[in-house]
Amino acid sequence: MRTILLSLLLAADLCAQANGKLQLHFIDAGQGDAAILISPGGQVAAFDIGRDMVSQNCDKPLAYYNLLGIRQLDYLFVSHYHEDHIGCVPNLLSWARPPQVEDRGQSYDSTYYTAYAAATLGKRATPLVGDTFVLDASSPNPVTIQVFAVNANGAGTTDEDSVSLSARIGYGGFRAEIGGDLTGENSDGYIDVESGVAAAIGKLDVYKVHHHCSSSSSNTAWLTLTSPTIAIVSAGDGNTYGHPTAECLARLHSAGTRTYWTELGAGAAPVPGWDTVAGTAVVTVDLATMQYAVAYGTNTDVYSIGSGPASAPATPTYAWSKHSNEYHYIDCNYVKSISPDNLQTGNVPPAGKTLHHDCPAPR
Ligand SMILES: [Zn+2]
Ligand SMILES: [Zn+2]
Repeated sequence: MRTILLSLLLAADLCAQANGKLQLHFIDAGQGDAAILISPGGQVAAFDIGRDMVSQNCDKPLAYYNLLGIRQLDYLFVSHYHEDHIGCVPNLLSWARPPQVEDRGQSYDSTYYTAYAAATLGKRATPLVGDTFVLDASSPNPVTIQVFAVNANGAGTTDEDSVSLSARIGYGGFRAEIGGDLTGENSDGYIDVESGVAAAIGKLDVYKVHHHCSSSSSNTAWLTLTSPTIAIVSAGDGNTYGHPTAECLARLHSAGTRTYWTELGAGAAPVPGWDTVAGTAVVTVDLATMQYAVAYGTNTDVYSIGSGPASAPATPTYAWSKHSNEYHYIDCNYVKSISPDNLQTGNVPPAGKTLHHDCPAPR
């Protein structure tokens, strides 16, 4: 009797976070990246467990793991070896059962990598493009995690962001992508990996924005071919990189993609109607209703699976004088001083002009 009771309790504990739906938790990890997938049947996959480079500790992601009561991971997918993606792996694995770890292989010269390698010793494997991991394998609706990029898919580069592992999550007709700091531009050592994998990945419901919405990721080809309904931006307050950037946000808005930010960050201001500073955002996918909900704070937004991006907003996003080298958010106070003869507006930034960074935050 005692044995039966114990095994029942154990089963309940293992499935404590499961609710019969697919959950994607995009954690506010400061200037770090961390996401958790919980399958309808209670299997758990982590995507990066990063260290907040502003507070220089692991408090935020570890507190969230504790809040969920997660004591074991089935899989850990590691995009690449920067501190803000692997820095808290040793902390978590000190009390969570070591999972199967999928990463890009090879090594990296940093103390964070050395600690990561020690914590995951004997657990690491490197997937090939096309490899698919299945959660809830015996369910009629399993969750799949398919690899679309790793080590820049053979393109020669030593840039640590460009070699990020990109994985697409599938559940029924729902699709999401998480790809670390994958790059979409041939500049500053980066190479364009996004364009090559965009067609293979196809349409997305949820896009975890590559590289904290830096200007060199989320290129136009990527957004045109994946046309995400919504996107999650992980950018920490006080970051020194200016994330999220105006250029990245403009491309997302042009694609009709609404965004949710884990923090306000230290870059462009959120545009009303397009960008929400959400904190931790939890996406829950329900195949019974063919909808998914985005819960943040006390709010919940609901989208239909496969609905695609919104149409262009009724109010243009940007305005500028045809004689100026700068452009502005439409409700920047400066726009009022532009003569109607010179005023031009649009949803896409004008070519050859730069964003006026001192605009008052749009309201
Ligand atoms: Zn990186
Ligand atoms: Zn990063």
